[in-house]
Amino acid sequence: MNSVISMKCSHYDVSLVRERLEEALQQLGGIEKFMKPGSKVFLKVNLLTGKKPEEAVTTHPVVVEALAGLLVEAGMQVIIGDSPAGPFLPGRMKQIYGLTGMKSAAEKAGAILNENMNVVKAVHPEALRLKEFEYLEAVQQADHVISLCKMKTHSMTLMTGAVKNLFGTMPGLTKAALHFRFSNIEDFSHAMIDICEYTKPVLSVMDGIEAMEGAGPSAGDVIRRNVLLVSPDPYQLDVIACRWMGIDPDQVPLVRVAAGRQLFIGGKEPIDWQGAEPDVERDRPFKTPLIHEPDFLKRYHSFPLLGNVAETFSNRYLRPQPRVLEASCVGCRECYVICPADAIDMKQERPSFDLQKCIRCFCCQEICPEKAIVIHQSAFLKLFHP
Ligand code: SF4
Ligand code: SF4
Repeated sequence: MNSVISMKCSHYDVSLVRERLEEALQQLGGIEKFMKPGSKVFLKVNLLTGKKPEEAVTTHPVVVEALAGLLVEAGMQVIIGDSPAGPFLPGRMKQIYGLTGMKSAAEKAGAILNENMNVVKAVHPEALRLKEFEYLEAVQQADHVISLCKMKTHSMTLMTGAVKNLFGTMPGLTKAALHFRFSNIEDFSHAMIDICEYTKPVLSVMDGIEAMEGAGPSAGDVIRRNVLLVSPDPYQLDVIACRWMGIDPDQVPLVRVAAGRQLFIGGKEPIDWQGAEPDVERDRPFKTPLIHEPDFLKRYHSFPLLGNVAETFSNRYLRPQPRVLEASCVGCRECYVICPADAIDMKQERPSFDLQKCIRCFCCQEICPEKAIVIHQSAFLKLFHP
């Protein structure tokens, strides 16, 4: 059985969230169906960067506390962790755990925060792109992993949910390097799915009470959807999350690639979905970033000369572009450090982008603490957007 359970939940009250999660887990057969008491469980939360819970960038600590509490009471040893964007270092993690509310959530639930910074090599011969990769030892050592993600739009992958959340099982800046290695969205989606297939989360839970729309995953706006989603299947959960966000799942590259790899047990449609449904009258669709480059110029890219012209035109007018809001930038250089394509130069303490080198991964926007990087969409791009 691979059901997705959706539970209405209107606010971040720990008793309410706990009650809803417990009910969802009961409908799926109870926690004991997925793990035995005494198991070591890694709760892979989304801690993209050090933001306060109300900014909806990270998994809300009340949801973390409620789920961790249920697991601890069922006899599990619970470790809460993630490898955020940027360097994976003890001091930085301590700061992020404090800012995002994870420290207090772990204390109240009787869980522990991951302090193991060791990295191991994951070997995954069945993978289609990532047969070997760096991986967090703490995740490797767990008996089970739960993907405890946040409902958000994403400037590169359109939406981020249970599958993309597992990218944070790779340490620090290796994630940015992976963007460079798989700069094509199809390849990148395969790589994300390889990580998901290697991790094999026993459960996925999405915090969609407050979500993010627009320039996600870190620079968008908060939008309420008042829902918690729970499923043993991360792929199906992401499809149902799309419904709640008002996004066509077929527009999401990760969903398309997962469907092509036949990872939806019983097919992508219809999904066995139980519980609350979005109110399409009341809940308008999320504002989404434009992630598509129109295809018609791509066919010229392989031609000499014409290819260069097409690519230059495409880079300038048909692909989304990172731009800096000079007044907001504080010159911290975090964007410069994370850029995997060496496409950023710091000029007078402000980033300057080389659009020919830029692979449109938008790691720079993700990591910017000041929301000083915006994704510019030309009138041409908007014209050709599907
Ligand atoms: S990360 Fe943001 S604030 Fe820091 S230098 Fe880059 S644009 Fe400026
Ligand atoms: S400039 Fe930004 S979007 Fe472009 S490659 Fe660098 S980090 Fe990615």
